[in-house]
Amino acid sequence: MRSIRKKDTRPELTVRRLLHAMGTRFRLHRADLPGTPDIVLPRHGMAIQVHGCFWHQHPGCPLAKRPRSRPEYWHPKLARNVERDMQSRKALCKAGWRVLVIWECQTSHLERLERRLTRALARSR
Ligand SMILES: [Zn+2]
Repeated sequence: MRSIRKKDTRPELTVRRLLHAMGTRFRLHRADLPGTPDIVLPRHGMAIQVHGCFWHQHPGCPLAKRPRSRPEYWHPKLARNVERDMQSRKALCKAGWRVLVIWECQTSHLERLERRLTRALARSR
């Protein structure tokens, strides 16, 4: 199983490649911000979290299905991740950042993803 705090995951690289192609400037893994957002676009005041569907429990997503074995291990662990995500999102918003969450399963449709990023960037300063 992949570890949770892994950086530079495939979905993350996909988003970064797109943002780069769109000519945006961004920084990675800003540890000084709540939750160490995967991607930060300072000029847009925007933080992007690229979430693995399983580890971050994408609601309603088939990839987020919990393992049948050892629920006493998995359930609290995954619930903690979801709770932590919510807290960092709140803290980021409070600090004036707009937060965009992109789920792993959404990175396989490149055109759709690009449209979404374009819209998000257009809305921000
Ligand atoms: Zn998903």
